[in-house]
Formats: sequence, C-alpha cells, structure tokens
Amino acid sequence: MGEDFQRNQLKELKETALPCFQCGVCSSSCPVFRVSPELNPRLSVDSIISRGKVPSEGNEWLCAYCLMCDQRCPMGVSLAEILMVIKNISAREGKAPPDVIESAESLMADGCQSPISSRSEKQREDMGLPKLPRANPADVQMLFRATGAAEVVELNRKAVEEASE
Ligand code: SF4
Ligand code: SF4
Repeated sequence: MGEDFQRNQLKELKETALPCFQCGVCSSSCPVFRVSPELNPRLSVDSIISRGKVPSEGNEWLCAYCLMCDQRCPMGVSLAEILMVIKNISAREGKAPPDVIESAESLMADGCQSPISSRSEKQREDMGLPKLPRANPADVQMLFRATGAAEVVELNRKAVEEASE
C-alpha cells in the first residue's frame, strides 16, 4: 500500500494545487490562521507545488475544515481537500497527533466520538423529538478494517508509544 499510495496521492495533490498563484487569499480568510499562524494554507500549497513534497511540520492538523479558503480562492483550488490529503499521507507515515489517534480509537471502541448524554436524551424527550439511534461499534470497526483505517490507527499508536519510550 505504502509507497504507491503516497506517490499517487502526491501526484494528484500537485495537479489540484497547480492553478495556485500564491495570492494568499486562503490564508487571510482562514479563521484558524488568525489565532494560530502556523496553519498557513498558502504555504502548504506552496510546499506541494515548489518543493514537490508534503509539509512535515504537521500544521495541517489544525485545519477545522470550515471551507472558508475553498469559498474564497479565486482559482477554485480546493484547499481543504488538499489539507485533508496531506493529513492522510502524514497519518500513513505514523505522524498523526496523539489526540487524533485517541479520537479514532474512541470512535472504534464506542461507535461514536461523543456519546449521547442522558441530559440530551431528556431534552429531546421533553421537546417531543424521537430517540437518536445508538451507534453500533461493530459496524464502525468493520468500516475501519475495510478501509485500512484500523491499520493506520495501529501504526500511529505504535509510533506514539515508541516516541514515549
Ligand atoms: S487563495 Fe487559491 S490561488 Fe490564492 S494562495 Fe490560496 S490556493 Fe493559491
Ligand atoms: S478549511 Fe482549514 S485551512 Fe481552510 S479556512 Fe478553514 S480552517 Fe483554514
């Protein structure tokens, strides 16, 4: 899976990023950039086009996927998609941040990241809303296995453990 996947993903990234002329509208529109300038979508795209490689600093994990940059890019470059692919590549290299791994593990264990609280259930009942369906962890685990995500989570968990030794 590894190298072929990375190569194909990088090739697609370059094609998607090519129309960019580095105007910076994406960065100036990004709400995360305003408070955490280390997430700079313009520089992420520049790294793909000029250096032909995925940035290694891991700043793309800060992206909130709000799509503001996509909406404003005058060249129609899908920045959010590019950042998502960068995150996918970095996760397959075992470089996902620990909180993201914990979140994925929790999703696999419980079938959801935010279990429905009894308070929410009561509020829904008071408002006459139907009960929300319970997530089935087995279904989620099957999806993780079928898509290879379980393997990626395991790889990242090992990387975190090795780093803490
Ligand atoms: S807004 Fe679009 S063209 Fe401008 S720097 Fe960002 S990706 Fe490139
Ligand atoms: S999608 Fe990500 S990079 Fe784009 S504006 Fe939103 S937070 Fe910033």
